[in-house]
Amino acid sequence: MGLAIVHSRARVGVHAPEVRVEVHLGGGLPSMSIVGLPEAAVREAKDRVRAAIHCAQFEFPARRITINLAPADLPKHGGRFDLAIALGILAASGQVSGEALDGWEFLGELALTGEIRAVDGVLAAALASGRAGRRLLVPPANGSEAALAAEVEVRTARTLLEVCAALDARKSLPRAEAVACRAAAQPDLADVRGQAQARRALEIAAAGAHHLLFVGPPGSGKTLLASRLCGILPDPDDGEALEAATIASVSGRGLDPARWRQRPFRAPHHTASAVALVGGGADPRPGEISLAHHGVLFLDELPEWGRHALEVLREPLESGCVTISRAARQAEFPARFQLVAAMNPCPCGWAGDPSGRCLCNDDMIRRYRARISGPLMERIDLHVEVPRLPPSALRHDAASGEPSARVRERVVRARAIQQDRCGRANARIDQAQTDAHCRLAARDSALLERAVDSLQLSARSLHRILRVARTIADLADSADIQTPHLTEAIGYRRLERGRERAAA
Ligand SMILES: [Zn+2]
Repeated sequence: MGLAIVHSRARVGVHAPEVRVEVHLGGGLPSMSIVGLPEAAVREAKDRVRAAIHCAQFEFPARRITINLAPADLPKHGGRFDLAIALGILAASGQVSGEALDGWEFLGELALTGEIRAVDGVLAAALASGRAGRRLLVPPANGSEAALAAEVEVRTARTLLEVCAALDARKSLPRAEAVACRAAAQPDLADVRGQAQARRALEIAAAGAHHLLFVGPPGSGKTLLASRLCGILPDPDDGEALEAATIASVSGRGLDPARWRQRPFRAPHHTASAVALVGGGADPRPGEISLAHHGVLFLDELPEWGRHALEVLREPLESGCVTISRAARQAEFPARFQLVAAMNPCPCGWAGDPSGRCLCNDDMIRRYRARISGPLMERIDLHVEVPRLPPSALRHDAASGEPSARVRERVVRARAIQQDRCGRANARIDQAQTDAHCRLAARDSALLERAVDSLQLSARSLHRILRVARTIADLADSADIQTPHLTEAIGYRRLERGRERAAA
């Protein structure tokens, strides 16, 4: 008697490590101390727990109460442990059964009235509870999110009193129910008129998970095109959807449980801070690149982004995750997004336009394009020009484009071929897989060498051309990469030459 242990979970990055709340009642003057929480959080937790216990008509023990949150080295913040602490006090003082607490984990902040309030990062906690073989209790507001973790039994309770009644087996608690998924209407490619080349590049990008850059004057439809990428991608599998939902859940921006199966589309503005883009903060939260995990990150006005922000993109573009170091703490967030970037061809936006309205000189254009570093440019497989459309193409009676559903069928077929061959999309195959599956005929090898030479491309760019050519061949259902596939892939690198030449 006098000791109770209750299980709960902290939030660290996208993980939910177990926290053991140990409550000990001892002799001596009545007091309450909490070990393992920061000072300010302790004071608030004490007030809430004490008031909630009174409100539930229980007795607050007039003993020396010591509460230990273990392990000690986890960040523990917010009120997520309130419910576990209150239950620990009630169990240690014999007011609820300590045995009944076994096999459960508890999450929830207490209001002074004893009502249980929502906390964040519940999905990660539910997945972890399931792996630990325990049931999870959360407030009703967190129920539909926790229920996405299909392997775990999740119950909800509105108040501390309800939880205690259930532990005494006087009342059963409702199971958390998953809400039905609503398929939101995705913008359709049928709305995009003309722009055959850009549409083609978008389809290749979708088919092989390649990063893509649109270059064109304002109003040419770059944003319109980018926003259609999610609609032609295959559906995420359960694991991918859960990973993306977990990130949304810990982001502090909330997760819509009805939309969790939809690939995210994130389009941050170029005035966003580096922390907003890649994540960070004293209590590290995921940034836009992680919120775009398994979805699309659209960066418009690419040269307007700070050089620093663009450089930190390089690691996640390669590895699919980002590591954030803050003081003594490190957090790793997944960030396997597909990048679609857009930029004007010059500072005024009209270089190359037949109207001749661009007055930028070569030096201005060079400096503008040099804001995007070579290494970043190299990691973008497809560079495509999006010209301003002639007025005839914008008339209301102009033919509408092929609808997304048809394009998507071809993308899904091409992805299935890649999945069978290497277990992943072409953009993500490694060196050995590239060597094995992107072989060229001798004549085509010579062609590629010449192109790499005249475009002054790096070895990295060469391998990326091969992977894009592989995707084009897959879209054509061709076992081999043939000359037209290769020349088309090389064509998507032409802007890089323009950049190198301008920088020379
Ligand atoms: Zn210009």
